[in-house]
Amino acid sequence: MRRAILRLAAASVLAGGALACAPGPDIAPESRAATAGFCSNVPRGQYADLERVEVADDWFEVYRVAPRVYAIYEPFQFQEVISYLILGEEGALLFDAGMGIGGIRAVVDELTALPVTVLNSHTHMDHVGGNAEFERVLAMDTEFTRTRARGRTNAEVRGEVAASALCRALPAGITEDNYHTPAFEISAFIDDGHRIELGGRTLEVIAVPGHTPDAIALLDREARFLWTGDSFYEGPIWLFAPETDLEAYRTSVARLAELVPGLTTLFTAHNTPVAPPSRLLELHDAVEAMFDGIAVGNRLGDGGVEFVFEGFSIIVGPDPR
Ligand SMILES: [Zn+2]
Repeated sequence: MRRAILRLAAASVLAGGALACAPGPDIAPESRAATAGFCSNVPRGQYADLERVEVADDWFEVYRVAPRVYAIYEPFQFQEVISYLILGEEGALLFDAGMGIGGIRAVVDELTALPVTVLNSHTHMDHVGGNAEFERVLAMDTEFTRTRARGRTNAEVRGEVAASALCRALPAGITEDNYHTPAFEISAFIDDGHRIELGGRTLEVIAVPGHTPDAIALLDREARFLWTGDSFYEGPIWLFAPETDLEAYRTSVARLAELVPGLTTLFTAHNTPVAPPSRLLELHDAVEAMFDGIAVGNRLGDGGVEFVFEGFSIIVGPDPR
């Protein structure tokens, strides 16, 4: 089944003639941003229904999406990444730390005085940019994580702050020539099933490799919340990076779909924070249709192939594996 998909993608690419290699999330973002027309859409409509919390740094918009759960949204950069501050009675977890364009530590400090631990949904640069601002960072025990903890150079990520990737000026001190992803120290490695006790709130780590080897979801079983990271959000889901493993993603999506009966809300990592759990069943169907060769992909100008579904799409590279 998988080979059929790969042939479909490859044939589709070949039909388009000579094409560059697959863009990774860090390589040519501005071309995607330019075509997305995202500036006219931000903040997206869903935010009007959420409770806004004012913070001093206007690079971010903060929303209270559930009791003691804040979405920290970066609407002015095309990734529209969303980090989450999850509070317990004794501690707080920052699930992702954003782009590292605005100073996320100051925002977190405005929202809570509790000790904060950082954990990333995965270690792509749009989620670890603020890690270095914190003393305690948990990380999945993978080689990919160790490599990405060394940071990314300006040359690797400068496209993320090109004018075409932005809807407003950069904060003072950040320029296209000095922006980079700082290296960060890992305090402790964790694995699938790890539990984070925040006092009155327990979060469970669910390994969902695929998008990256270190991708995780986070489950609050009692509140019935699931944070999906980049494994699902309402937008184009990127599965074209060299570190993406489509077979692993398929397995992980099946695992997430099994959780749906126990969930009331998904919190996702890009574009809009809140999605219904039924989306994971739709995602599961979509991925199976893709692998079965039932879903037909559209070739993109940069060589990727996009499979479009209701409310989201899946983009694979010309040479997925
Ligand atoms: Zn992301």
